Amino acid sequence: MAEVERETLETDVLIVGAGPAGLSCALRLAQLLKSHNENSKSGQALKAENVYVIEKAGEIGTHCLSGAVLDPRALLELVPDFKQQGAPVDTPVTGDSVFFFTESRQWKLPIDPPFLRNHGNYIVSINKLVKWMGEQAEEAGLSLFAGFGGTEVLYEGTGVVGVRTDDKGLNHAGHPKPNFQPGIDIRAKITVFAEGTRGSLAKPLIAKLGLDAGRNPQTYALGVKELWEIPAGRIAKGHVVHTAGWPLNTRQFGGGFVYAISETLLSVGLVSGLDYQDPRFDPHNAFQQFKTHPWLSKLLEGGQMLRYGAKTLPEGGYFSIPNTAVDGALLIGDSAAFLNSQRLKGIHLAMKTGMLAAETVFDALRKEDYSAATLNNFEDRWRKSWVHDELWKVRNYHQGFEDGFIGGVVHGGLQFLTGGRGLHARYAATPGYKHMRRLAQCAGNAQEKIKPNGKLTFDKLSDVFHSGTSHEEDQPCHLKIADFDICNHRCTVEYGNPCQYFCPAAVYEMEDNRGGSGAHLKINASNCVHCKTCDIADPYQIISWVPPEGGGGPHYDGM
Ligand code: SF4
Repeated sequence: MAEVERETLETDVLIVGAGPAGLSCALRLAQLLKSHNENSKSGQALKAENVYVIEKAGEIGTHCLSGAVLDPRALLELVPDFKQQGAPVDTPVTGDSVFFFTESRQWKLPIDPPFLRNHGNYIVSINKLVKWMGEQAEEAGLSLFAGFGGTEVLYEGTGVVGVRTDDKGLNHAGHPKPNFQPGIDIRAKITVFAEGTRGSLAKPLIAKLGLDAGRNPQTYALGVKELWEIPAGRIAKGHVVHTAGWPLNTRQFGGGFVYAISETLLSVGLVSGLDYQDPRFDPHNAFQQFKTHPWLSKLLEGGQMLRYGAKTLPEGGYFSIPNTAVDGALLIGDSAAFLNSQRLKGIHLAMKTGMLAAETVFDALRKEDYSAATLNNFEDRWRKSWVHDELWKVRNYHQGFEDGFIGGVVHGGLQFLTGGRGLHARYAATPGYKHMRRLAQCAGNAQEKIKPNGKLTFDKLSDVFHSGTSHEEDQPCHLKIADFDICNHRCTVEYGNPCQYFCPAAVYEMEDNRGGSGAHLKINASNCVHCKTCDIADPYQIISWVPPEGGGGPHYDGM
């Protein structure tokens, strides 16, 4: 498309992403600005409306997905009276169970590991919580723009000066349709990237400025989840179940969960490390298999699946956190890998890093100094906070699983006894996609393929239907493939096109080419639930996920 004239908006702060991290940053900033403006003798007013938050979802909260068991620590610091303020946090955890599964049996651990004890935490719907936070941010006078994805970082030299939002009204070939509206350049004194896992702006920013130099490579997991309604009397409201073992094999990182939001409403999911070896492994199929376990199928019997979703998690931990400050910008939350993979929790860390970023931004605005040196105070802040203490204790956790589950449990035990150290001061890590083996190296059968029965088990398309996903059909494909030749020829032979298995939304399909030159890759982009797995797990690293036209994507509700 030829260069178009774009509107430019100037503001003080731009937060990209209205999830727990971005909205905690916005709300804390609103608190600081309010108190400053009430008490300032200098007359220098800092306006809340000059804090912009852009969000690619059409409605705040509908692209957010999590288990979720919330550690309320950060929320209590941000909104101490959150219950009186109507926060949708009303299912305290009443008990924990941890099981080890084999295909036909389960063993309950006599003692729950300390990191899986959830007393004092809450089972929440992250959509509802984030929606509520968005309402608080609007009441505080902040400027929220839903339906706007950030497509490009704006730079001056190596400093960030803002973000370009998505063009709306382009057809599949990238040509303007009658309703075309060019994206806007939002120029900000400080831009805060809070896009969640594998941020589509954070990824090129980290690469361009080498922010991950000297860090461990990032590693990820994919969580696939359904919301179920079941008959009453089977599980207590607030009960939290975690499982290890089947259907994942001993080489794989991950586990299952069942969270009882109420006696009749369950959040059921399986988290699979995206560092598996067999390219035929299908995380969605593994989740369907998980539900056929006798213990779980009995729990779900006669129930109804209500919703579906999938999301990736950054699992690399402390040593994979990139440099979080550059001239004019900060990285927070999942975008910067603030997640405790041992506890399977990141919301509280996303929120706390958002709040600490807000305090840093506030100081920078007062000093009118937006340099990396000033913004680097964010790093000092999180290192002096409980964020550091929590992540330091598990600094080597995920790397301990590099050689499989059993080794991971042994390393985890040693690390627990040595305050997180284990056998080495810093365990190394390998990017997950490098663990994938070629087909020729994969002995034995592929994972058993579940035949969906439409009651307990579902195919990907039925599940996508339950995610509420929709996109404008006539728009450029938002899955950018650098070289289709690799997909259609080399990958077919070497890896068997793992994208058709790892994508939990049936976006990638190898279609028979009637011309006789073999199967070719077809992309059903409108199914995409924005989990980013393809961007992460592709063995050639030639898939880039970029935001589709703003407003498109899943519509998670109660998830
Ligand atoms: Fe996830 Fe990629 Fe599939 Fe979209 S296309 S659902 S981002 S794996």
